[in-house]
Amino acid sequence: MFKKVLIANRGEIALRIIQACRELDIRTVAVHSTADRDSLHVSYADEGICIGPPSSLESYLKIGRVIAAAEISGADAVHPGYGFLAENAHFAEVLEECGIGWIGPRPETIRSMGDKANARRVAIEAGVPVLPGSKDPLASVHEVVGLAAEIGYPVILKASAGGGGRGMRIVENPDEIASQFSTASEEAERAFGDGSMYLEKYLRSPRHVEFQIFGDHHGNVIHLGERECSIQRRHQKLLEESPSVALDEELRNRMGDAAVALAKAVDYRNAGTIEFLLDDDGSFYFMEMNTRIQVEHPVTEEVMGVDLVKEQLRVASGHKLSFRSGLRPRGHVIEFRINAEHPETFRPSPGKMTTLHLPGGPGVRIDTHAYEEYVIPPFYDSMIAKLIVRGANREEAIARGRRALDLFVVEGIHTTVDLHKKILQDEPFQRGDFSTRFMEDFVKRQAEANKRS
Ligand code: ADP
Repeated sequence: MFKKVLIANRGEIALRIIQACRELDIRTVAVHSTADRDSLHVSYADEGICIGPPSSLESYLKIGRVIAAAEISGADAVHPGYGFLAENAHFAEVLEECGIGWIGPRPETIRSMGDKANARRVAIEAGVPVLPGSKDPLASVHEVVGLAAEIGYPVILKASAGGGGRGMRIVENPDEIASQFSTASEEAERAFGDGSMYLEKYLRSPRHVEFQIFGDHHGNVIHLGERECSIQRRHQKLLEESPSVALDEELRNRMGDAAVALAKAVDYRNAGTIEFLLDDDGSFYFMEMNTRIQVEHPVTEEVMGVDLVKEQLRVASGHKLSFRSGLRPRGHVIEFRINAEHPETFRPSPGKMTTLHLPGGPGVRIDTHAYEEYVIPPFYDSMIAKLIVRGANREEAIARGRRALDLFVVEGIHTTVDLHKKILQDEPFQRGDFSTRFMEDFVKRQAEANKRS
């Protein structure tokens, strides 16, 4: 087992990784920017090293500085968390060259699945269903126009290097396709340094259902069930739950088998997620693979009774997978992302949290780096906490969520707490009757209700 791990991240995930290391008696090294000097992850870790100014380009994303910090501190492995360098194959390679362990899949896997157009090809070869679309990156406007006509509108243009809900364009009709392709490709070039695009059929109201998978260095690959992530805003997840009400045992097995087949096809090691779109007729299609731990991993931890981050550390140090396949969910789990943002404009709302009261009690877990008087810096992600609730069934999980959100008190900044409370009161949500269009329809229902009252 590793003796000292450097955490190349910040915020709640850095804390989460330090917790796992503590339980395994691994010493921890936190890296931080000057803006995060007073962060909990720094005080909680055994050692802290400042790696640069607030801008993440000059700190958390600076490979040379993170590696220097690992060498100076004598860390024998690096955990990248999610975001920042977590899906940077080059970073993983440099670490390997320096003889420092990497807590994640092999660099070639990260590279191959990180290119979404290539991941689609790998899925097709593994016999996993994908939506009708382009097999190779789109070469010309002419090709785009022809292919879209063949597939039928609407279609979605996606950046091969895209992520975080960015670099996607829905195109409804042939008049828009050529111009949308050119602007989207230019935007992707600017945002990701790679303008290559691919195209697939756009589903009007699918569900986003993803499978947690895990592989080790001994050829074992399993899945740990699904997470329903259809409650999204601007293609970004807001609330996740498990099990999905849309899956019966037969469909769960088929989707799980497809996820495992795909992971095996790339000899996948460590924790990963296979994302699918599920259409209302029960057809499912591979969307992308995330080659890292995800924000919503606690949903699986709570519903399956496992510790995914400790398993990441064990597996990366060469141990065999300790999970059995075929684990059964224990009740129902819902996760609420608490973001510091304005409720109407959804703009980030950084600043000082003058009051913070966190709920507790049965079935409540909170992953956060926030504390009273903490000043949320404006430079990073706006997520300040994850509230995870578990109940014997979905009804009880919803009731616990409501009760916990009522006692989740934040003052000084705006948050998504009230939005979550309203979602829990929404009838279609309560019935489990929703798709990725949920937020769009929900906002309309809310506006109508406000008009009436
Ligand atoms: P990112 O990597 O940027 O998060 P994804 O490919 O995971 O992008 O897609 C994010 C979200 O966009 C999905 O959860 C879904 O809501 C929507 N989406 C993506 N592709 C399609 C599609 N072909 N049809 C309908 N919705 C889609």
